[in-house]
Amino acid sequence: MFTDNQLLPISALQHLIFCERQCALIHVEQLWAENVLTVEGRHLHDKAHDGPSETARDIRIARGLWLKSNRLGLIGQADVVEFHRGGVVRPIEYKRGKPKKDASDRIQLCAQTLCLEEMLETDIDEGFLFYGTRKRRTKVEFDASIRDLTMRKIERLRQMIEDRETPTARRMPKCEKCSLVELCLPDSQRFRNGVAAWNDRQFHCDDDVDDVPETDPFDIGLDLLEPR
Ligand code: SF4
Repeated sequence: MFTDNQLLPISALQHLIFCERQCALIHVEQLWAENVLTVEGRHLHDKAHDGPSETARDIRIARGLWLKSNRLGLIGQADVVEFHRGGVVRPIEYKRGKPKKDASDRIQLCAQTLCLEEMLETDIDEGFLFYGTRKRRTKVEFDASIRDLTMRKIERLRQMIEDRETPTARRMPKCEKCSLVELCLPDSQRFRNGVAAWNDRQFHCDDDVDDVPETDPFDIGLDLLEPR
């Protein structure tokens, strides 16, 4: 069991799945920056949390419910949790845009569900993701595979934060959407293996930064380029 001061934010799982380096910059190095996507996402969550809890027909709707699991060492906040007459519980998470290709939204919702199950001593078999562009719910079934994947991501998150591990920057297409790109400096990897190697690569049009194998940037003093 984890103590309250060992709890990790559920939202960090989204950062971890998007990019492990982004997760480490935020949760190990304590860096943060906004871009239009993060601001839009925050406004959507604020809207979902706002407003009183209410009861409609046979459903009690709780907004902005705080979640905690000392077993998993997680803390967070659910956008909406529906409590149906008869004991059925349904977590609902609001997301900007459309469903993602990766499992990050389902993992976040599953982690919320694991917290709710522990808090309420119940089983929850499904929940929903509400995407801004679709404007309707997408059902998520909490089967063994999503539960197992979520547990593995929680373990990886804890290991990375406890080891204070910040993975190497690596330029990827998704860096364009990353609010931390100015702090991360993914292009600094062009200098890996030394300036001479970088200069040499400039004259080879088939060079692709993504193909450069991973090395530790601190080996060549790139920590001087890292924000603190
Ligand atoms: S800029 Fe790219 S490598 Fe750096 S944290 Fe963001 S996604 Fe990860």
